[in-house]
Amino acid sequence: MTLQGARERWVRTGGVELCVAELGDTAQPTVVLVHGYPDSKEVWSEVAARLAEHFHVVLYDVRGHGRSTAPEPLRGGFTLERLTDDFLAVADAVSPGRPVHLVGHDWGSVQAWEFVTVERTKGRIASFTSMSGPSLDHFGHWIKKRVSRPTPRRIGQLLGQGAKSWYVYLLHTPVLPELAWRGPLGKRWPGILRRLEKVPGGDYPTPSLPTDAAHGAWLYRDNVRPRLRRPRVDAYAHAPVQLVTPLGDAFLSESLYDELELWAPRLTRRTLPAKHWVPRTRPDQLAAWIKEFVVATEGGRPTARAASGPHADRFGGQLVLVTGAGSGIGRATVLAFAEAGARVVAVDRDAQSAARTAELARLVGAPEAWAETVDVSDEQAMEKLAERVAAEYGVVDVLVNNAGIGLAGPFLDTTTEDWRKVLDVNLWGVIHGCRLFGRQMAERGQGGHIVNTASAAAYLPSRSLPAYSTSKAAVLMLSECLRAELAGRGIGVSAICPGFVNTNITSTARFAGVGPEEEDRRRRKSARLYGLRNYPPEKVAEAVLRAVVRNQAVVPVTAEARGGRLMSRFTPRALRAIARLEPPL
Ligand code: NAD
Repeated sequence: MTLQGARERWVRTGGVELCVAELGDTAQPTVVLVHGYPDSKEVWSEVAARLAEHFHVVLYDVRGHGRSTAPEPLRGGFTLERLTDDFLAVADAVSPGRPVHLVGHDWGSVQAWEFVTVERTKGRIASFTSMSGPSLDHFGHWIKKRVSRPTPRRIGQLLGQGAKSWYVYLLHTPVLPELAWRGPLGKRWPGILRRLEKVPGGDYPTPSLPTDAAHGAWLYRDNVRPRLRRPRVDAYAHAPVQLVTPLGDAFLSESLYDELELWAPRLTRRTLPAKHWVPRTRPDQLAAWIKEFVVATEGGRPTARAASGPHADRFGGQLVLVTGAGSGIGRATVLAFAEAGARVVAVDRDAQSAARTAELARLVGAPEAWAETVDVSDEQAMEKLAERVAAEYGVVDVLVNNAGIGLAGPFLDTTTEDWRKVLDVNLWGVIHGCRLFGRQMAERGQGGHIVNTASAAAYLPSRSLPAYSTSKAAVLMLSECLRAELAGRGIGVSAICPGFVNTNITSTARFAGVGPEEEDRRRRKSARLYGLRNYPPEKVAEAVLRAVVRNQAVVPVTAEARGGRLMSRFTPRALRAIARLEPPL
């Protein structure tokens, strides 16, 4: 199998011939992608195609894998020293005289850690992006520290990683792994990847898999035990490192990278809600992060543009769209994502306030920020927005359906027109957002997250907010149903349920059944009460980011929202009694 559009060449080194593929313009910085186990260079095909638009991209089959030849004998032919020889031979062939940007996944990352920490590659590596493959030296020290100075937490970490490494023990047994890979396991592997790792089908893995996997067992046998027993003490990275940690990795614990800054002082951390095979399941995100890191390093910045806000590791470079972004919770949410380094789209029906939010977002750290003027209840306008966003900015990674309006007053005073207005914005606006952007996320097949702003009113009955509460209860249930439907596609859905938050909502809310003067008085009075409660929208924004990071289903924000949620579960009768009380307005 060849990579589409790739130029191939062969590089001889240490008794083997390596199959090297190149894409993109050779005048651009060179990015070398190193594959893992049991893979061949084709694991990178999706990422490589995206990077080739900007860089000279180089992939090679590690010795004994894909179309590269295997060393004779196999034992001792896969040591990290020999793999370093291979890398240097490839780098010299494809980028003589100019350092390369290295990217490794799994065993490709394990060996790349060796490349970037040994003396003889100094000056040949401009940057290193590591995913799902720790340095064996760092791992060795990690184990030693936990064994020599055990605490309950450290013992837990050791046992946890020990359990995740079950396959490493198996690969050390003689012959059996080879028999399994060349037999039933080799045949079943593509199905296993699809089922357990959600790797999309297609032309990956390649037919060479059984041989790759049989040869690759020597990567473990030649290196793991000796290195873990005697880890190098000087394994410091001499180039900037970007660490991408998939949070759902079945083989590696997050704690393996604790204190990695000691070994890689110029470290940029990224996290991703994904399983192990990220080059197949998250190519857009990886390509974007690699591009940003390479460009930053080439530009002389030691690490990628470091966003300062909480969760920058997660949201840096992601595309986030927030509706109702011109004021209150929406604006605060845009700014919190911007501080985390996200690219943001601020949507509001009010053009000026949306533009102001986008301007503020740029000031606090968003690499890019746009304003869009749309009424979320207008189906056609939302369709156009979704098309425009996809064409101009890309598929949204996080969607926050936040636009909403207030409506108070008894049911018998609420007109059908009132009902229509509140449902059009609060419910239909959310439905349009979920339907249009959710579909794009699902079709892209690389995960994402939808946050819907419901309200504590969604579960707290009252005689004063029948229409508003109904709209928010519908949003809550929609979120729960959607969460169930989209879970299998790696798309999370959260419903945020704030209590009283000090925003403009009180001054624009409609009060049914009263004249303009009385409506005005009630607006001012409720604004005063919300002001006295004085819960800032920024705290709701923090809860929104946390909900995405933790993939929380329902998030009550404020003490009254949390208390109300507990009462709705455990003492619903008491809530019903409270619901009958005359409102204070
Ligand atoms: P806000 O009035 O300060 O902000 C709402 C924003 O949404 C405004 O900029 C407004 O122009 C915009 N908007 C309204 N209708 C729109 C439409 N049809 N299309 C596009 N934009 C529209 O209010 P807020 O308090 O920040 O409210 C945000 C969300 O939080 C709403 O869904 C609201 O129901 C919900 N909420 C608010 C509170 C609270 O106490 N403030 C409590 C619970 C839930």
